[in-house]
Amino acid sequence: MEPITLALLAVGASVTYIIKVAIKNYNTAQQLRDIINKHTNYIDATYEPHGNDLQMAAACTESLNRNFKGEDILSCWNKMSIDERKQKVITLTKEAASIMGVEVNNIVFDESTTRYGSYSPNGTIYFSEPFLACDSQGEIIRTIYHELKHGTQEKAIQAGTNNPYGYDTPTLVVWVENNLKYENGDQDFLFYYGQQIEVDARGFAQSVFQG
Ligand SMILES: [Zn+2]
Repeated sequence: MEPITLALLAVGASVTYIIKVAIKNYNTAQQLRDIINKHTNYIDATYEPHGNDLQMAAACTESLNRNFKGEDILSCWNKMSIDERKQKVITLTKEAASIMGVEVNNIVFDESTTRYGSYSPNGTIYFSEPFLACDSQGEIIRTIYHELKHGTQEKAIQAGTNNPYGYDTPTLVVWVENNLKYENGDQDFLFYYGQQIEVDARGFAQSVFQG
């Protein structure tokens, strides 16, 4: 076979592969959205900011808008390459971590297709690369603030009543109890979704960026 034919075959195969991956990712994201929207709007309506959450959210919104130069965030995001999105996520995560007083030692992009991200109290934040690659409604951007909010919860629980966020004792008690019987969603998605620390993290992220 002529080299040019081989080259064309290779290009054809990789384009087909890219399209297949994109469709698989899109379907996964859409399925997760459908589950969330179908069952859970009422749970999100119970979100209440605590302590200085509103000020913290406003500062994160300012950081976000500044990093997108005041332009429409979703239309910019959807034009960005995967590497550009990763770089933006890293910059935004570092800025927000500093605003929120959360230590982040490590930012990891993993292959999860069941979670947008997760937070480990050792200071590692994970983001799903498949969702980052197909995201079109701001889920990964909100995940930055969601996971960092878990960081403030953790820090406040450790610090107790003198925590730097002004969270009151009844709030901390609810979070400690929630942590003790935390459900990660593998067994029961709705139970996972309705947990106080999840409602708090999701509501906070939504107040930073509605999309
Ligand atoms: Zn969470």
